[in-house]
Parts: sequence; structure tokens; C-alpha cells
Amino acid sequence: MRWREVFFLRSDDNINNNDEININDTEEPLVYCDNVVKLFKKDKIEVMALQGLDLTINKGEFMAIIGKSGSGKSTLLNMLGGLCRPSAGEVMMDGINLNTCTEKELVNYRKKTVGFVWQKSGRNLFNYLTSVENIEAVMCYSNLSAKEKREKAIELLELVGMSHKKNSLPQEMSGGEQQRVAIAVALANDPKILLADEPTGAVDSATAKHILTLFKTLNREKKITIIIVTHDMKLASQVDRIVMIADGKISTEKLMREQYRETMELLGETDISSHEEYSILDKANRIKLDDEILKEAGIDSKKVRIKVEDGRVIILPEK
Ligand code: ADP
Ligand code: MG
Repeated sequence: MRWREVFFLRSDDNINNNDEININDTEEPLVYCDNVVKLFKKDKIEVMALQGLDLTINKGEFMAIIGKSGSGKSTLLNMLGGLCRPSAGEVMMDGINLNTCTEKELVNYRKKTVGFVWQKSGRNLFNYLTSVENIEAVMCYSNLSAKEKREKAIELLELVGMSHKKNSLPQEMSGGEQQRVAIAVALANDPKILLADEPTGAVDSATAKHILTLFKTLNREKKITIIIVTHDMKLASQVDRIVMIADGKISTEKLMREQYRETMELLGETDISSHEEYSILDKANRIKLDDEILKEAGIDSKKVRIKVEDGRVIILPEK
């Protein structure tokens, strides 16, 4: 299975060589993480949730973060959202240094630059407010008049296809409908970046697909940069780029070409594993080979042979 194959980056390979993603190389990246470490201390036990993570995200990207439970996905997303600061390393978001900015700047960043969608609708919506009131509630810091806020809230509900439920309370709506309203809430302050932590984790697969389509439309039409955490590979295949976190670091990166995906879907092919895939070398040029790759290659000791042949790096089992 090619998802598990390792492609070594050759100097003539260019990760950004993707016509489908609107990337402008000359522009500063919107998100820049350099060697980010996050340490949690609990009852004298230390957990390294992020262990030297590097990540660059350009404006307008629609990307997914995948990885096993406990690999650090939520920690990364919370950090990008300014909910916690790194223990070491650098996080730059839209030109703001999240390590060194003041608390006030951080609060401002959370209010204006990012929007959040969580898995549990209870974290997204006040259950005693209607859809339209939930959106208005997060606009409390804006300078809009009450009338303008109402108009904007209705517009956002139209955008997510939920204007018919504008006066409904969360418990009067299905899980999928609540998540659509949650997306409208997240967009209320016109964020540049939308962060979603397992936004489809609590809905059925058909609803999940619809929600993903909505994210994609928002990305394409509104040019919002969207970063979602998911463990559903089928959903992840809808985005432009997938990065996989293992042990608090980005280990693999996959680019999805729209044209290729559409052809595959037409053919009824659900295996999205043959898109372009890259393993990431860390700062010391180390690469992570997971157990499955080693097993497939018949490598069962800690010593391997490395050969360079015709521009390829080949790793062979010990003789
Ligand atoms: P994921 O979202 O990929 O499942 P998390 O980012 O939630 O992973 O967690 C990564 C690691 O950090 C886990 O070992 C988790 O227990 C730990 N962790 C996350 N948040 C905290 C916290 N607030 N306090 C202590 N440990 C935490
Ligand atoms: Mg998580």
C-alpha cells in the first residue's frame, strides 16, 4: 500500500509544485512553526505533547492533520489558536509571534484572526441561545449595530445552509445541523484561519461528508485557510494537503491533486493512497520509518544498509 511507502525527497522534487493549491511562494507563510515543543506537567509527570514540530502553512490552504490518539493533534491546534503557548520553539501566525506577544495581543488574535469548531457541539454553541443569537453572541466585540449583527448572522446562516433554523435552539437540531451553525459562529468575526478539531467526530459518515464539502466551499470561495484535525482518512482525502503527526512531530505529508481525486472518484476508487506522498526529514536529516514499513521491508534489526542508486536512497535489511 503506497500510503506506507516512503518517498525520499530528491533535490528536483518540489513540494509546492501543485497547480491546484493557490500558493504564492513570495508571500510570507500564514502559519510558521519552528521546532515547537510543548511540555505538560501533571502530578510531577511530564508529557512532551509536541517534540520539535516544524510546519509551514500558506494562505488559502485547506489541510488536514491526522495521527493516532495522543499524538499531539489537539495540542498543535490549540497552540495555533492561541489557547496555549509553546514551551520552546517558535510559532508565528499571520505575522504575530505567539511566544512573545502580550496576553492582550493573544486575546485579540483569538478574537480576530482565528475561528474554532470543536467536535462537541456543546463547546461550540450556548444551548440556551438560538442559532442566530449564538452567532450574535460572538460578535459582541464588533462595532456593528444590533441590526447589522442580525443581518450578518442571517447571511452566515444562509452561507452554511441553515437559515431555516435561525430561531432553533441547539437541542432542536441534529448533530450535523449544529455543526453547520457552529461553523457560522466560527466565521462571525471574519477569521483568516478556521481551525476545526475533529469537527465530524460525532456525526454519521454522510453528514460528515456534507460538512467537509461545506469547509471546502468556504475555502475555495471565501479563501479562508482551513486546518482540520480528523482521524477519518476518507474525509482527509478531500483536502489539498494532509500532514501526519507521530510522536509530536510531522512525520509524513501528502499532497492531493484535485484532478486526480476527481478521476478516482468517477472510477469509484476509494483508495486515495496513491497521491503524492512525502516523508519529512527533521533538522538533523533524520527520517521516521514506522513499524509497518520495516515489517514490509523485512527489516527486523536496528541496523540497516543504505545505498544511493540512480538518485534514490535505498534502505536494505542487515545482511
Ligand atoms: P491528540 O489530539 O492527538 O489525541 P493531544 O494533543 O490531546 O493528542 O495530547 C498529546 C499528549 O499530551 C497526550 O499524551 C496527552 O495526554 C497530553 N496532554 C494534552 N493536553 C494535556 C494537558 N492539558 N495536561 C497534561 N497532558 C496533556
Ligand atoms: Mg485530540
